[in-house]
Amino acid sequence: MFRDITTLLLDPAGFARSIERIVEGVDGPVDLVAGIEARGFIFAAPVAVALGAGVLLLRKDGKLPGATIAEDYALEYGTDRIAIHADAFAPGARVLLIDDLIATGGTARAAVRLLRKAAAQVTQAAFVIDLPELGGADSLRVEGIEVNALVA
Ligand code: 5GP
Repeated sequence: MFRDITTLLLDPAGFARSIERIVEGVDGPVDLVAGIEARGFIFAAPVAVALGAGVLLLRKDGKLPGATIAEDYALEYGTDRIAIHADAFAPGARVLLIDDLIATGGTARAAVRLLRKAAAQVTQAAFVIDLPELGGADSLRVEGIEVNALVA
């Protein structure tokens, strides 16, 4: 069953409250909010503005114009790849990872690997929806990531 967040986006009060609640859950200063393409972008941008942070786009491979670094991850059938600009941030940047939903955690773990490969400090991640029975959030916690989700 696909969890559809488009109705949340259509609700001004609900969308605003979801951004507030993500921001309330953030632990300590953040330099960049990294959103995973594409629905993660929608939540990452207003959270970044509220935190006084920048927005980092974790894009599907082949879409960024400059030199990139990338990370592969397994899908149910095949693999996918996400990328960032190689010079997007200085080593040690404090990055909050955001996506609309975490299921198996394969996408988010690839994002963490990519960000850490680029020497970011990634210690927290936020999702609108967690599907806890699929174990993704717990697999991020094993990687030392504090995970917040608005709905589980
Ligand atoms: P995972 O890699 O954790 O198994 O899957 C999470 C990724 O797939 C996220 O980028 C998320 O946007 C997308 N995704 C998987 N299932 C759903 C779903 O039911 N609803 C939404 N909105 N996104 C999903």
